Amino acid sequence: MTDPTAQARLDLEDAIRRIETALVPVSETVVLRPEDALGRVLAEPIAAPLTLPPFPASAMDGYAYAHDRIDPSQPLRVVGTAAAGHPYTGALEPQTCLRMLTGASVPDSADTVVIQENVVRQNDQVQIRSLPERGANIRAVGQEVVAGQQLLPAGTRLNAFHLGLLASVGLTELTVRRCIRVQLVSTGDELVPAGSKLEPGQIFDSNRALLTALLSREDVTIERSVHLRDDADATAQALNAAGHSDLLITSGGVSVGDSDYIGRALAERGSLNFWRLNLKPGKPVAFGRIGDCWMLGLPGNPVSTAITALLLVLPALRRLSGEPAQPLLRVAATLTHPIRHNPGRTEFQRGVLEQRSSDSGARELIVTPTGDQSSNRLSTFSAANCLIEIDKSAGDLDAGTRVHTLPLGGLLG
Ligand code: AMP
Ligand code: MG
Repeated sequence: MTDPTAQARLDLEDAIRRIETALVPVSETVVLRPEDALGRVLAEPIAAPLTLPPFPASAMDGYAYAHDRIDPSQPLRVVGTAAAGHPYTGALEPQTCLRMLTGASVPDSADTVVIQENVVRQNDQVQIRSLPERGANIRAVGQEVVAGQQLLPAGTRLNAFHLGLLASVGLTELTVRRCIRVQLVSTGDELVPAGSKLEPGQIFDSNRALLTALLSREDVTIERSVHLRDDADATAQALNAAGHSDLLITSGGVSVGDSDYIGRALAERGSLNFWRLNLKPGKPVAFGRIGDCWMLGLPGNPVSTAITALLLVLPALRRLSGEPAQPLLRVAATLTHPIRHNPGRTEFQRGVLEQRSSDSGARELIVTPTGDQSSNRLSTFSAANCLIEIDKSAGDLDAGTRVHTLPLGGLLG
């Protein structure tokens, strides 16, 4: 076997592409009520079961009439009222109009609504002061969607707006992909669980807490979450236990130190796709397959774990759920402080992205790194709302340099 550690380092975008190419969406689906489907991914496109709006509706409070059957220089007689849910059943004669409230059905005998601010009303007489165009202020039948048209494509992760839209056409069942089955493993002889007394040299396990929270998505089930000692046999057992889960995520032990067993175990027991990234933090990341289960071995430094989880695990989960691949969202901003960087690896620092107004009133985006960026310092994330991307070819960056930022909201979405 060639030495897997001798592999060239992959750029982040190549690593994401390799993950998206290797993984296939889970095929099993479940049928859920819409109220249970928030955050789940549609397995099939949704066609509208009905036309919306189903009737021509007034968009405003005002008066409805037939454009060609009135003389706007003369008053119109108000013959009745149509309110939302209370249609007017009669027909309009020439030179008459109907009081209309927003959402009310416009009768066939009318084609235009003048807003109430543009009329003068006296008793049952209305004088139009500003004549709207024919068809004004009426929501046409099918303006939103026509029955049979696609309302949402397959691969949509359902959010509040989607669920509102689906409710508007009265759907009661949705076919979504089943949850992604994940196993979490943290490694390290130094790690102890919360509640223990720390002996010399020990630290608490923070990565599993971070990953558990990051993965608390509606379509992820954490089937197993364990801590492993740095031990070849225990590592082999953990990999064997991956079973029929979809994704095994490990933290730590993925480098090539004496007590790093993860990368080697994956290379020996499964198939390794990549093991080295051109990334700081996050150089050692092992991706491959063990039996039926995909595996991402993340580095153990908490910031490295967090960044590789954001940049690689979340896209992997989206792919398994059948969401379309989306390029990373980058927003340009101006650095407020210098950044030291040696050319070689693409680096992601934590930053605070803000809007600043200049004296001329123009708004610009500025970004400030969150202090010392050592990869053990999870507190660099505490105030952060973005990652600052520093290109692998860049040297030191001066304050004032335009940089790319990756808003955390975009990465988490
Ligand atoms: P490793 O990747 O195993 O070499 O670990 C790199 C650094 O991250 C070491 O300082 C570890 O103690 C620390 N580390 C590894 N796993 C965890 C964890 N689950 N929680 C907190 N720190 C960790
Ligand atoms: Mg370790």
